[in-house]
Amino acid sequence: MNMDDATLDQWMLEAAQLVKDRNADAAELVYRRVLGVRPEHPVAHYQMGLVAFLRGDLHGARRWFERAIALAPGNDFLRNNYHTWLRHVRLPPTWIADTAEDLVNGRTVRRFMPAESDRHIFIIEVAGTCHLRCPSCPVGNFDQADRPKGLMRVELFRNIIDKISAETAAIPKPMIWLFNWGEPVLNPALPEMIRIARGAGFEVMISSSLSLKRDWDPIVAAEPEQFKISLSGFSQAVYGQSHVKGDIELVKENMRLLRQSIDRTGSRTRVWAGFHLYRHNLADHDRMATYCAELGFGFTAVPAAYQPLESVIQMMRHEVEGRDHDIVSKLLVHPVEFARLRGQFLDPELDCELRFNMTNINHDGSVALCCAVYDTRNMLGVSFLDRSFDEICNLKYQHDFCRECYESGSPCQPTHPELRSALSERISTAIDETQNAEKGSTELPLKIREIRRG
Ligand code: SF4
Ligand code: SF4
Repeated sequence: MNMDDATLDQWMLEAAQLVKDRNADAAELVYRRVLGVRPEHPVAHYQMGLVAFLRGDLHGARRWFERAIALAPGNDFLRNNYHTWLRHVRLPPTWIADTAEDLVNGRTVRRFMPAESDRHIFIIEVAGTCHLRCPSCPVGNFDQADRPKGLMRVELFRNIIDKISAETAAIPKPMIWLFNWGEPVLNPALPEMIRIARGAGFEVMISSSLSLKRDWDPIVAAEPEQFKISLSGFSQAVYGQSHVKGDIELVKENMRLLRQSIDRTGSRTRVWAGFHLYRHNLADHDRMATYCAELGFGFTAVPAAYQPLESVIQMMRHEVEGRDHDIVSKLLVHPVEFARLRGQFLDPELDCELRFNMTNINHDGSVALCCAVYDTRNMLGVSFLDRSFDEICNLKYQHDFCRECYESGSPCQPTHPELRSALSERISTAIDETQNAEKGSTELPLKIREIRRG
């Protein structure tokens, strides 16, 4: 360390103490001295954000924090702290407008730090169809939708990526997800599409049931950043109830092949399994978690949800339809109870994250209102290539279904702590009920009991 570095470190320590003492003026003088010598010192920029925050200047603080992150893009500590701060002060990052005119609800709504990603997410459905029939998914439960099914063509995909690149040049690189209501691996052009998106500098995520035979090497070699495996059991008797038409032995075999393919190609793709928790599959949870650990894959369990949004809103008005009884009775929290709970904590003055931070493009290039809807009437009626990004955003704020959604309490907003604890309690009760029903036969896995507590 040379003399200059030692002096700078000393100044930084001195200024940090002044921030702790809430002496904004004195701290600013020292940080400006540091920046005079080292204008691109990311921590000094970050600390200047804290100084602005001490003075109550939220917008000034946000600009300083973002400059710090731009100067040190790999610094997760600064980024995570910034995101926590945004949640605390209820602001979005600067590249998301603070407010929007919610025309259909007749009010101005405030935006916030999105839970899913601070960057915009473009969902491009490269396969608008699936060979499975999961009863909690519209592919399995919403056959009344007059929805075109098919695979996206490469040329269309390339044009979409080019348009996204051109229209988002001034904001942090968006993320590209290649799935919504379909199985992306069904599209034989998937490896080429991943390469096109990655070649344009985007981070790519795919999600597959893995319940189909494929040569995984081309997909793995194309290196999507994330490969999610969506599943709901370890044995066929359990898995087959919620992943109808799926074959868990084929899934497990494919997981092994995926591991071998990653080892063979040296791919840096991060693979993780998303385990949908139901009442009927709690006992399979640990077995799949262990299997993933053996393969070096990540594992996350989340309570399964019934979809699409249209059906949940319908359920709130009427009884559950006969054919849905079975799957609804397997959920840890009934969809209507979940929606009503959310409704109690809805803030009508807040925007919906699915509306302002995601754009959902169907396999034919048309645009959906959001990723939660399925019915044709809830598409925006335009092609992504024919309208500007801003025009598409504006159309969302005029769509009637967002009014129904707000009335039902279903927009995607930050989870209120009381809502979180109410949901934990419901989940805990559901697990207890399952345990009592199975008393004497099966001891629930340890990790499930940990989830219940968490
Ligand atoms: S595998 Fe996925 S897309 Fe296919 S039916 Fe099941 S949940 Fe829907
Ligand atoms: S329909 Fe609901 S979830 Fe979808 S964008 Fe509108 S408010 Fe958000």
